[in-house]
Amino acid sequence: MCGIVGYIGKRNSLPIIMEGLKRMEYRGYDSAGVSIINEKNELISIKKAGKVSCLESELDIDVFNGNIGIGHTRWATHGVPNDTNAHPHFDMEENILIVHNGIIENYKLIKNRLLEEKYKFKTDTDTEILANLINYHYKNTNDFETSVRLALLEVEGTYGIACLCSKEPDKIVVARKGSPLMLGIGNQEMIVASDAAAIINHTKNVIYLEDGEMATLEKGSFHLKTVEDQDIFRDYQVLDFLLDEIEKGGYEHFMLKEICEQPDTIQNTFRGRINFDTGVAKLGGLQSVEEKLYNAKRIIITACGTAWHAALVGEYMIEHYCRIPVEVEYASEFRYRRPILNSDDVVLLISQSGETADTLAALKEARKFGATTIGVVNVIGSTIAREVDAGTYIHAGPEIGVASTKAFTSQVMSLALITLMIANEKKTETPETLIKLANELKHIPEKIAHMVSLKDEYKKVAMKFKDAKNFLYLGRGFNFPVALEGALKLKEISYIHAEGYPAAEMKHGPIALIDENMPVVFIAPQDKAYDKIISNIEEVRARKGVIIAIASEGDENITSYADHILRVPKTLALFAPIINIIPLQFLSYYIAAARGCNVDQPRNLAKSVTVE
Ligand code: GLU
Repeated sequence: MCGIVGYIGKRNSLPIIMEGLKRMEYRGYDSAGVSIINEKNELISIKKAGKVSCLESELDIDVFNGNIGIGHTRWATHGVPNDTNAHPHFDMEENILIVHNGIIENYKLIKNRLLEEKYKFKTDTDTEILANLINYHYKNTNDFETSVRLALLEVEGTYGIACLCSKEPDKIVVARKGSPLMLGIGNQEMIVASDAAAIINHTKNVIYLEDGEMATLEKGSFHLKTVEDQDIFRDYQVLDFLLDEIEKGGYEHFMLKEICEQPDTIQNTFRGRINFDTGVAKLGGLQSVEEKLYNAKRIIITACGTAWHAALVGEYMIEHYCRIPVEVEYASEFRYRRPILNSDDVVLLISQSGETADTLAALKEARKFGATTIGVVNVIGSTIAREVDAGTYIHAGPEIGVASTKAFTSQVMSLALITLMIANEKKTETPETLIKLANELKHIPEKIAHMVSLKDEYKKVAMKFKDAKNFLYLGRGFNFPVALEGALKLKEISYIHAEGYPAAEMKHGPIALIDENMPVVFIAPQDKAYDKIISNIEEVRARKGVIIAIASEGDENITSYADHILRVPKTLALFAPIINIIPLQFLSYYIAAARGCNVDQPRNLAKSVTVE
């Protein structure tokens, strides 16, 4: 969470920092702030609660003029989101300024020590403690870089930081542990940021900092080292996406754009990875672990949030088609609950950003036991992508809307490809079945495109429920995770309470909630479970619940059961989650938009959860 940006070079830093903050606002929008070193070498700083636009409206661009600066957009962990707790934070003597992403876990200990040294604090944040700790070391060393380094050696927890020092006004010192940070290397200028989105407009050449690394940036040069003081030499990598991929392109919200992009993004996920004549899938990134995967006694899939729902789909797929036992774990639980793991287990980690703190910790846990780790990640070069034994990129392109949509379908598609790959090798499915599945896969993009063309139909239904207070989502088999994901989408962006359940579980509890005010979404395509789902619909109807059905095109029978119908094309079970989630994404989008909610930046949430 939270976005950090810094600039050092020949240009005026303010516009570059402000543009970067706007592009990274999806990472946190509790407050924003910026600090510049002006021509007189003074540190000038402003910070404001609320969005980047609140900061912008208070900024005097004539005053904030200088070619070194740092900025921050916050997702609060310590201290309420007000002006005082916003970053950048000064130390008590206003010598050091810092922006920080992460959590200083031992901040209380450090604070008590500094209090004994007569330090004073103005904010409730953990970050201010670090600013003062750097100041403390500066007094002994008189060297900015060394004082940051010594302070970081004392810190437990996570950080991505960028700091300025009034006594050495020609540099920015940055460091990372557990929070992403990269350097954009331009012509006689450098931009440091949490996310490539803040860099791409200026340079495509980037260096990713690894955990425990820091850099000192000066005009036209930089120096990388570890916090333990070992020099590092690393070449830059070239970013491969375009600026318009991270812009709205005429859509009202990123989320709507990203929902509508799915015919393309899903195609990008499987392009070049499947032979339609033989049904054989091949994922280049997994080559080095193929044997481990085929011989796995057990596969564990771990993830958080929407990616956890994709993981659940993965369990259904792999057990059904590959006959390998699969367990699905919340990464946040897995990392702390003494899991039983051994070296012939394969652990799949799914994360859109590749920076999700809990998933990253689960990865480290899996590695400790010698399990083979495989990443299913969207952001190229992200930490999880770099730290796994092998992995596959989902190629969904930058996802900016906080509520994940296209990443979900591409995660599920990646898992379908892994399923096809294993099923072919282990011969758990016949070549005929594989060819049939591959043929259906080929048509998924056009089926999604068809649903995108139906969006006004979906919107009409959504409008009827914009004032609903609760929702239930029910599905069976491959569509149970879809019910969970549909409910999550709605609650995330519209703040309507929603729950997903396996349809048959309803009678073990949630049925008590049903009355004429309860909309119930049934994912009811014409598949093997159709008759059973119809019975569940009957049970809800008998209690006067309002039925919204996701139903196959051509299914006339459903009209006598459902009050509202969202039509979907027919598909095979393996791809049902990809198809059936689309109308649910539209449903939540249109409901939230009609309620006037900030769809791309829902309250309390942030994209890329880089704190625990
Ligand atoms: N812990 C810091 C704060 O609460 C930074 C939070 C973040 O990473 O967004 O201000």
